[in-house]
Amino acid sequence: MIRFLLLGVMTSFLVGCNNNIEPITVEELTHKAAFDFKSKQAFAIDRSVQLPTTNPENPKSKLQPALYCSQCKQWYPAPPIEELNRNPGSAKCPKNGGPLSPNGPLPEQILVFSEKSE
Ligand SMILES: [Zn+2]
Repeated sequence: MIRFLLLGVMTSFLVGCNNNIEPITVEELTHKAAFDFKSKQAFAIDRSVQLPTTNPENPKSKLQPALYCSQCKQWYPAPPIEELNRNPGSAKCPKNGGPLSPNGPLPEQILVFSEKSE
């Protein structure tokens, strides 16, 4: 767990120059970003978890796919897939209108889904 947190901090330092090929960390291979509606925060979750889903630590809240703005260095909730298909430009940063990407340094907070099957 602590190792994952450190990796998260390190990756956020490494990103910044998009022309460089960034090394993929173990964390990025096994985790993806999700946006929690209630807390308005992004979390790293296991890649095998299907989104949207219920937040295991807050059953009243929903997790949905997140997209990253490299200018704000923040994760934002992704628009619904139907909307993205209809209008690809809808994946824009709500703050500065920059492009949002599904790839970015993973959030430092990791949500663990306990019912994970082995
Ligand atoms: Zn932005």
